[in-house]
Parts: sequence; structure tokens; C-alpha cells
Amino acid sequence: MNDPSLELLAGGLERLRESFAALPDARLAPPGMARAAEALNEAARRMGDNFPYFHPLYAGQMLKPPHPVAQAAYALAMSLNPNNHALDGGRASSRMEVEAVREIAGMFGWAEFLGHLTSGGTFANLEALWVAGLMAPGKKIVASEQAHYTHSRISAVLQLPFAVVGTDARGRMEVSALESALAAGDVGTVVATLGTTAVGAVDPLEEILKLRSRYDFRVHVDAAYGGYFRLAGNLGAEASRAFARIGEVDSIVVDPHKHGLQPYGCGCVLFRDPAMGRWYKHDSPYTYFTSSELHLGEISLECSRAGASAVALWTTQRVLPLVPGGEFAQGLEQGRAAALQLHRIIAEDARFVAGPRPDLDIVVWAARARTLAESSRRAQQLFDHAAQDGLHLALAHLPARFFPEAEWTDPDWADARAGSTLTCLRSVLMKPEHLAWVEEIGDRIRRAAVDTD
Ligand SMILES: *Cc1c(COP(=O)(O)O)cnc(C)c1O
Repeated sequence: MNDPSLELLAGGLERLRESFAALPDARLAPPGMARAAEALNEAARRMGDNFPYFHPLYAGQMLKPPHPVAQAAYALAMSLNPNNHALDGGRASSRMEVEAVREIAGMFGWAEFLGHLTSGGTFANLEALWVAGLMAPGKKIVASEQAHYTHSRISAVLQLPFAVVGTDARGRMEVSALESALAAGDVGTVVATLGTTAVGAVDPLEEILKLRSRYDFRVHVDAAYGGYFRLAGNLGAEASRAFARIGEVDSIVVDPHKHGLQPYGCGCVLFRDPAMGRWYKHDSPYTYFTSSELHLGEISLECSRAGASAVALWTTQRVLPLVPGGEFAQGLEQGRAAALQLHRIIAEDARFVAGPRPDLDIVVWAARARTLAESSRRAQQLFDHAAQDGLHLALAHLPARFFPEAEWTDPDWADARAGSTLTCLRSVLMKPEHLAWVEEIGDRIRRAAVDTD
């Protein structure tokens, strides 16, 4: 396979070398080079033991190949290996981070804000909840039961009380349950998830924001997965309304390494109020010397961070600007169209029970069966058979009430209080190629179902 990132990289490295051409040559031959090719071949063989994440027949977890220009820019920057903690260690890449993050904030309508990249969504959410806790000491963090599992752990780390509220049968936060929680008067921050990890559900942000007229609380949006869908033009009415209001919240997390075509680890946290920078204030006895300009380490919890991540992101956004209707937005729209199509294929097949209509690009479905246990067993079987046939799906453990059309004989399965769950199938159609491949994916799912007993 011809890798376009290699050609880009070769040209980029040549340009970069020009900037340092005046230096006397001082490099020693790196040690161990005689064994390097063999070791790399061995690494390549080892890496072959993976699912083909780059291929549309990988339609399982949230894995999206980085854009070739992101790969090339990352490798280019890595030849210098800048550290975006301080300008001393990463002057150019820190400035590129500031510019790239400003473009992400711009996507949410923010011109004035505080923000930076992180190692990923978990650390970005940690920073947002840390600030949330400082702004409302001792008060609760509330998220839906479909929020990312790390919110409860993060709250435990920060020693903040944490509570969950239920969701409707589509996986979206139940606003009436939230209001009951708020009425108790001890909630400091509500985490709204725009794009849940399991099913891609978009919490009803509009209704959540309305509650601010009666209760005093902060809103943090976890859009680690879904944030870029702000740019998509083909969302349903409810999801569109939620994304349209995203700029009114206090903080936002979005992961460029999920939908933003970036290598791991690249997350991003944004605060609407630049004054939140005061919580980060500290001095470093070693690193803040070369400039009185802001060092990113002064506004982030992590110390060392890969400058290469910022360079990759900056370069990708040059090629694919974050604008509605642009090529990047079209890629998201293709994934969503593919998900709607797969959802139809599943719904038309009597052997399956389709889950909620996708808000974004994630499809979940159950195997039709007499009982939940039988349905779970068949889902596992279908997953295995599809994999043997070259189609890689994912499994998820979900509330049975997400499949209201099922006719399981288990008592109370549709009752939220009973808490019945099952194993079902899940497919994340996040590559633009998935749209052209969705019929083939549907055929393989049907084939795998024939094989199950
Ligand atoms: C993936 C995800 C996270 C965690 O982000 P990482 O980058 O994996 O640390 C948090 N929230 C949501 C909604 C996610 O989808």
C-alpha cells in the first residue's frame, strides 16, 4: 500500500532541516542501528496482530485512522520532539497549539475563552471537573447513567460527591430526573454528554440550560466523542438544537483523537470564562524563563505534553478547516448517513431488534430471542461469526429498555427500576468510507446471523 504520509514527511523534513542548516554537524550515529531494521520488522509482525482499524470492515469501536497529513506532521515535529509545557521546550508548537485550540473554540462560537490540549478526553474532563469543584466547593457533580464511566472515577479522585440521573429509552439524560436532583440544592455541576460513548446519544442541552433559570449550577459538556458534530448538517432536529446551544455552557471537552483525525493522545478542554486561568496559577522553578508570553504549562494540569500533537492538529486544520459544509464536516455527515442506513437494514430484519435511531454515527441492536440471556448469547455468536467473515463489530452491555420493540419473556425487562441489561451489538460508523460500504456491512451481518442458531 502506498502511504501518502511518507512522501509528505520527506518533503517536510527537508524544509525543517533548512532552519538548522547553519549548525556544525555533531550527531553521532545512533547506537544499535545494525539491528534496527530487524527489530522494526519484528515490531511490524507483532502489530499485525490487530483488527484492521483503518478499513471500513472494521466497524466496531471508536477507532478512526489519523489523516495522512496528521501522521506526517506528527512525525515531522517528533524529529525535534518539542514539549508544549513551556515555550523554552516548544516555542513554535506552543503557538500552533494556541492557534489550533482557538479554531476548535471558534467551532463552538467562542472567541474569548481559556483552553488547551490534553493527553485525551479523560484528562480534559478531569481538568473541567477540577475547576467545577473549585467553583462550587463540596457540591455534587451530576451526570447521566450513560455518561462516560470516568466521570465517577474523576469525581472520586477529586473527592467531589457524584450522582447519576437516569436516561430515557434513547440513552438521553432524563430532564425530570435531573430537576429532582437539582431541587435538593446540592448540585454544583451538571455534565451533559453530547454523544454518549455507548450509543452516541445527545443529551437535551436546551432543556438542561432552561433549568438554570430556576437553579444555580454549572454545565460541563462532555463532547469528547460528539463535539465535531457541531459542524454536521444532517443531524436530527433534537440533536441539532443541543449542538446549537453548546456555546452557552461553562466548559467543553472534545477529543481530536476521536473524530478529529488525530493520533492518540490529543484531547482538548475549553472554559468559556478566561478568568478560570486563575485556578491554574503556579510558578515553575525550572521552565518559564525564555518569555513573558504565556507558557501553556501555566494553564494546564499536565506538565510535559507532546508538541507533536499540536503540530499534527494545526496542520490538519489547515487542510481541513472546521467549517460547516467543508470536507471535514462532510466526512462526519457520511458517517451519520451510513449509521441511519445500517439502522434501517437492522430494523427491516426480523432476526434483530434495532436500538434507538442514531443521533450521531453509532448503531446498536439486539438479537431477537425469547429471553435476555438468549439474546445476549446470540449477540456474542453473531459478533464472533462476523469477525470470522472479516467484519469487526463491537458488543455493548445496555439497558434492555433501549429496545422497546423486543418481546422478551423476562419479567419487568422494560422497567427502568428493574435495571435489566443485555449484551447487544454495536457498530461505530465513523469513517467516511463506511457510507460506501454499509450495504456490504449489512450483507455480512445478515450472513453472520444465518450462522447463529
Ligand atoms: C472517549 C470518551 C471519553 C474519554 O476520552 P479518552 O480520550 O478516551 O480519555 C470521555 N467521554 C466520552 C463521551 C467519550 O466518548
